[in-house]
Amino acid sequence: MTSRREFIGVAAALASIPGSFAAAPPEPWYRRTYRWGQTNITEKDPVRYDIPWWREFWKRTRVQGVIINAGGIVAYYPSKYPLQHRAEFLGDRDLYGDLAKAAHEDGLTVVARMDSNRTAEDFFQAHPDWFARNASGNPYRVADKYVTCVNSPYYDEYLPAVLTEIIERSHPEGFADNSWSGLGRDNICYCENCARKFRDKASAALPPKQDWTSPVYRQWIDWNYARRIEIWDLNNRATKAAGGSDCLWFGMNSGSVTSQSASFRDCKAIFERAEMVFLDHQARTTGFEENADTGKLVHGLLGWDKPAPESMAMYQAGRGTFRVASKPAAEARMWMFEGFAGGIQPWWHHIGAYQEDRRMYLTAEPVMKWYEANQQYLVNRRPLATVGIAWSQRNTDFYGQDRAAELVDAPYRGFVASLLRARIPYVPIHIDRLDRDGTDLKVLILPNLAAMSDPQCAAVRKFVSNGGALIATGVTSLYSEFGDARTDYGLGDLFGAHFTGTAGAERTGAAQTLHTYLRLSPELRAGVWGPETGDEPRVSGHRHTVLNGFEETDILPFGGTLPALRLDAGVTVPLTFVPPFPVLPPETSWMREPETDIPGLVLNGRVAFLPADLDRLYTRNNLPDHAALLGNLVRWAANGAIPLQMEGRGLFDCNLYTQPGRVIAHVVNVTATGRMPVTDDDLVPSGPLKFGVRLPSGVRGRNVRMLVAGKTAPHVIANGWARIVIPSVLDHEVLVIE
Ligand SMILES: [Zn+2]
Repeated sequence: MTSRREFIGVAAALASIPGSFAAAPPEPWYRRTYRWGQTNITEKDPVRYDIPWWREFWKRTRVQGVIINAGGIVAYYPSKYPLQHRAEFLGDRDLYGDLAKAAHEDGLTVVARMDSNRTAEDFFQAHPDWFARNASGNPYRVADKYVTCVNSPYYDEYLPAVLTEIIERSHPEGFADNSWSGLGRDNICYCENCARKFRDKASAALPPKQDWTSPVYRQWIDWNYARRIEIWDLNNRATKAAGGSDCLWFGMNSGSVTSQSASFRDCKAIFERAEMVFLDHQARTTGFEENADTGKLVHGLLGWDKPAPESMAMYQAGRGTFRVASKPAAEARMWMFEGFAGGIQPWWHHIGAYQEDRRMYLTAEPVMKWYEANQQYLVNRRPLATVGIAWSQRNTDFYGQDRAAELVDAPYRGFVASLLRARIPYVPIHIDRLDRDGTDLKVLILPNLAAMSDPQCAAVRKFVSNGGALIATGVTSLYSEFGDARTDYGLGDLFGAHFTGTAGAERTGAAQTLHTYLRLSPELRAGVWGPETGDEPRVSGHRHTVLNGFEETDILPFGGTLPALRLDAGVTVPLTFVPPFPVLPPETSWMREPETDIPGLVLNGRVAFLPADLDRLYTRNNLPDHAALLGNLVRWAANGAIPLQMEGRGLFDCNLYTQPGRVIAHVVNVTATGRMPVTDDDLVPSGPLKFGVRLPSGVRGRNVRMLVAGKTAPHVIANGWARIVIPSVLDHEVLVIE
């Protein structure tokens, strides 16, 4: 057969003939390789790797590219660099080379996998100055390995030489590196290279310890980020020089911004400079929707036309890691489907080339086949969402510091989960890209985006002055981009509310649930409903529409604490704070102060400021009231501009996309597990589901197909909306409306 490489050669030859019939040159590998497979080779595998069996598996699972361990921490080929540790059972074999050759013969893209941050002891003994050191001068170690320093010649000279050697031996299309970013943020390296380079840059000694208030420590943080970007670019220069302009090097990236921060991986700088993103994000901490969110977040910076495959574990990962036990198929499939719903491409991942739990070999095949059959609807599409949820790695670093999970991730995830419950399509938006990407948004959500620069505040102000609605929670904008407290919210003018408390107090409370409540405001007098809101009070309850569904209660459980605020004239306060009172003994459990004028929610025009950070608390306590209120707020803020309606029981992640001439609705049924971080081994069908999708101009909606059921769907078109009924959804369904 003609191999892919030979084909490229022929195509290139034809293209060089002037006026010939030659077609356009094929897309580079990083634009056309969507389906991936990876057998992460263990040191034992050289004596048991059944290459013909795996070639058959590649074919069965429809992969277009494979990721093959080559070098770094362990070499799977006979390297000319003696200190590159050869796999224990490698002998004289070139396992990596054999696999790369087989994959090329099968027409697959080969990405050589590196893992570059540690070495064995002999390497340390030979180059003791290439390794990270603690304040006492001792090397940082992980188990029996030594951690290399990113500022040493190991990164500047040795690794580029290894990359060059691999390219010369086997011509991989590109590289992916697992632990490319070196020592994490939890440890400071005091080696001579770091000391010298930091002094050159900062005119100061390395920081003695972690101290987020110290200017030197802050410089050290930024200096570390910048060095990882230098390494990214350095490695790409090396691979392009040896392998041609399309021979690209990629470091793996986590889908968690907090993990990226802990590794000094700058999401914005990396995703915006990369041609594709290899995601290493194998398990959920809350619900499956995390993976769709990751896909959308990455594509927001990478571009929606570039691939972002993700290593999807076929073994048990997450709640308990068991490298060679099969992940239940339901759990693995749902993670994959949610990835697809966010624009992520499939990449099955096994640890080791020989498995005794053979169930894991059965999981990927049907999913990969479905993906291949429907790939054109799953890539190169743009989100159709009117709600954006803002994020910023700077906020993760300088406000979240070492508690980003509670202070930054929990509010973000809680709001995302509330949008899911409310069946509202949304798109994550980097706060620095609001000007560029916010033009189609009707609602911007700032989920406790505490640390914001003045320009970021100005961009939000501009968004609102252009008619956008805003929802901000917690202590949004109370801090500068370095986490220094302001005297008032940076966006206090928009909120119509001003800070009077002690900044930082909220950090203390973030890990607790207090026995506090929110009081729903009694009847609001006519006149409070100004023309600026456009709302009419409901007949029953006479409360603001953001309190819809709570007619039979005057209080809601809260759990946080709130400071007094100074309010501007004309704002509406639908919720006020009820301070803590005892839980135990029951005899004492009565409100000491049933009413205060401390606002829990302030509405100012189409701006909602929710100091009662129900988004964080929803992640923490999973109380449906909190999600319902957040959903109400978004619907009120969107004022009818949400392009999706859905009726039917169950919990669904709903994502809408457009391609020229069509709308694609990807609906994932997460009813069975909800947001529970359990391991899913069952699926519960839901239906019938009634959908309404507002059609963008150019989409007529004559034909509606269900890509999972493999049928057309009955529908009617009226007033620009397509009304569709899906009989039942087991795991997911993709509607293509053309
Ligand atoms: Zn160092």
